[in-house]
Amino acid sequence: MRRYRRAKIVATVGPASSSPEMLKKLNEAGVDTFRLNFSHGTHDDHARVHAAIRALEREVGHPIGILQDLQGPKIRVGTIRDGKIEVEAGETIRFVRSGSDGDRDSIPLPHPEIFAAVMPGHDLLIDDGRVRVRVTGLGDDWIEARVIVGGTISNRKGINLPSTVLDLSPLTAKDRADLAFGLELGVDWVALSFVQKPGDLIEAQGLIGDRAGLVSKIEKPSALDQIEDIIRLSDAVMVARGDLGVEIPHEEVPGRQKELVRACRLAVKPVIVATQMLDSMVAAPTPTRAEASDVATAIYDGADAVMLSAESATGRYPVDAVGMMDRIIRSTEQHKLYRSIMDATKPGEEQTAPHAVAAAAADLAEAIHAPAIVAFTSSGTTAARIARKRPAVPILALTPDESVSRRLCLLWGAHSVLSDNIATYEEMVQRAAATAYSEGFAKPTENIVVVAGIPFAQAGTTNNLRVVQVDGFR
Ligand code: PGA
Ligand code: MN
Repeated sequence: MRRYRRAKIVATVGPASSSPEMLKKLNEAGVDTFRLNFSHGTHDDHARVHAAIRALEREVGHPIGILQDLQGPKIRVGTIRDGKIEVEAGETIRFVRSGSDGDRDSIPLPHPEIFAAVMPGHDLLIDDGRVRVRVTGLGDDWIEARVIVGGTISNRKGINLPSTVLDLSPLTAKDRADLAFGLELGVDWVALSFVQKPGDLIEAQGLIGDRAGLVSKIEKPSALDQIEDIIRLSDAVMVARGDLGVEIPHEEVPGRQKELVRACRLAVKPVIVATQMLDSMVAAPTPTRAEASDVATAIYDGADAVMLSAESATGRYPVDAVGMMDRIIRSTEQHKLYRSIMDATKPGEEQTAPHAVAAAAADLAEAIHAPAIVAFTSSGTTAARIARKRPAVPILALTPDESVSRRLCLLWGAHSVLSDNIATYEEMVQRAAATAYSEGFAKPTENIVVVAGIPFAQAGTTNNLRVVQVDGFR
């Protein structure tokens, strides 16, 4: 099963897509990695979906990625007496830490860490930024604020505090339980929400170890301030535009997206562009022109993957949304300007042997018009280093490690193949040719480029390059 595009599709599973039949249709339509959103659903729900995806993977005989997205420290208003309060610009309201009766002078805010960190002048954004209030005064257990943009504050609505760095671990008690559950199931990726600083990743890394890849969701301005260290400590990154677009002005989101995609490409880390990509397909069978353009922009930016949220989780047209995304990606990647944009944004080469060999493989494959680059990769990094060049040639990533083969389902340009260990150079050449042929990437008369680290099965060595004619080996 080969895809005719280089960027990957991530789709969120929810009530609209959790049956084995739907998961199969979505994978056929183009989903490479499924996202289990632990802000919703029970452990039983997620376990069923996980088992169905693994069964599907066996059926199709091709790796499929599973990403567990942890809810993180989502801050919410408490319970309001009448269910909601209308507030108007200019008026003053009060939040309290506890003992409230839930009216406009005592809106419950059951998050002590806010009272410890917020300062006059900081903004509180309620309900995805629909209501904005600015702190004018505070005490130990109360916050007074002036309404800047009025609207409705209702029960349990989410709150964003863009200018406040909260003393919060990105792992809540719920997240810890969910994480233990996810690792037990065997997810391939764990996404951390509301990462604020590099230190936030250390604890999660300790808990996850090498059982899954760690994805940092970038949705806080404070994360942007230390983005290089956060990327370095992450295995992948998500541009989480939903919350990010609440915490920073709308007009800054596209530029930040470009910066983040470029920084990840430079650092050899896969990057997912997420949220509202085809949002109107939640209710309609076609997207708006602007949404189609948004998906294309992420592809021109060089993103490894684009993601569907409500479109596939709760929408009416999950399969159409995936099909639409697939067509937009393919059309964009085939557009005459695509290659020149990829080349123009190519990061400088790192002066190390593994990077230089990977870059040489990409150049060599393009120079001889090879139909594929075959990369033997035990940790996935050899394939990722080649992908960093965004070559015009598909990368067949062969790995003996099942979890690596699934994680490769997020990497730009990679066609992931789970393949037995090889022991000798001859075996490498034979396996590369046979796989390129059997996976439908090369014809017998063609020359492919083979990249490997020797000795085999030792991560981090990319030191060998070979041109192989498929004939005679397959
Ligand atoms: P969420 O993350 O859907 O878990 O909030 C994505 C985003 O904020 O864009
Ligand atoms: Mn979010």
